Amino acid sequence: MVKTPDTFNIGEICPESGIYKLTHCTCMLDASCDISQKQYTIPLVKGKRFPPCRNCGSSTIKWEFVRKA
Ligand SMILES: [Zn+2]
Repeated sequence: MVKTPDTFNIGEICPESGIYKLTHCTCMLDASCDISQKQYTIPLVKGKRFPPCRNCGSSTIKWEFVRKA
């Protein structure tokens, strides 16, 4: 039985509708930015592809499943 991974790369297909969290990105470490203005969680519908970081456009991030929507 294949275990469903709980982290996803940009461009992967969303396996389950729910809330996903940005796991790491260089912009998260940038203290010059107002962290309260950034989006670290997103709702994503099953079948959609995971997007790049909404704050800085980075495509090297991963998304982590938080909970079902
Ligand atoms: Zn970023």
